[in-house]
Amino acid sequence: MSHILAVSPHLDDAAFSIGGMLAAHARGGGRVTIVTCFTATMPDPAGFALACQLDKGLGPEVDYMALRRAEDDAACAVIGARAIHLPLPEAPHRGYDSAPALFAGRHAGDGILPALAAALRDALEDSAADVVLGPLAIGDHVDHWLVRDALLAAKPDVLLWEDWPYVARVDRRPVAQPVRRHVLSEEDRADKAEMCECYASQIGFQFGSRAALSAALDAADSERLHRV
Ligand SMILES: [Zn+2]
Repeated sequence: MSHILAVSPHLDDAAFSIGGMLAAHARGGGRVTIVTCFTATMPDPAGFALACQLDKGLGPEVDYMALRRAEDDAACAVIGARAIHLPLPEAPHRGYDSAPALFAGRHAGDGILPALAAALRDALEDSAADVVLGPLAIGDHVDHWLVRDALLAAKPDVLLWEDWPYVARVDRRPVAQPVRRHVLSEEDRADKAEMCECYASQIGFQFGSRAALSAALDAADSERLHRV
């Protein structure tokens, strides 16, 4: 029984980007583990970090990351995947103080990479997975780049997915040919949609509405992996 380990920067990226592929693997009897890197609850968020939950209608008293970890547990349960949550802080808790700052390169003072690399090396070793997947970092979110860099350092043959929904923006398409293209079956689409809908706190922000998420999923015919 082969084992896929998907390394997701945030609580939603793996499902959004390769949920159909993971669902197909699980349906065929394979094991799936989704390790999400930046999932730490940070006490008393302020500034941009607090704004990231307030703008989703969640008050300051809500443990935003606990809510999102529960969303991820539900999404993984759809396909029987194991969810692992690494307790590292998201970029808004590391000095990235605006939405544009998240997509404008790594700060010199952002010292998270050694801790991320160590946590990922442990996760890879513990899982003994046959296949390891991670983000290509299309869209240039700093957290996606950090995961890509840490993964490539730990496992040079890692396969990297096209980050969705970023890749659906025409100017973000990779120029290289994928090494694997998974055409989504009807079952894959249904499972992926069910997984994506679990991330309720992110749907309005990412897509505008559930209907828009559904339309975006309908427009994607395949999921693609690259080697770099
Ligand atoms: Zn992300």
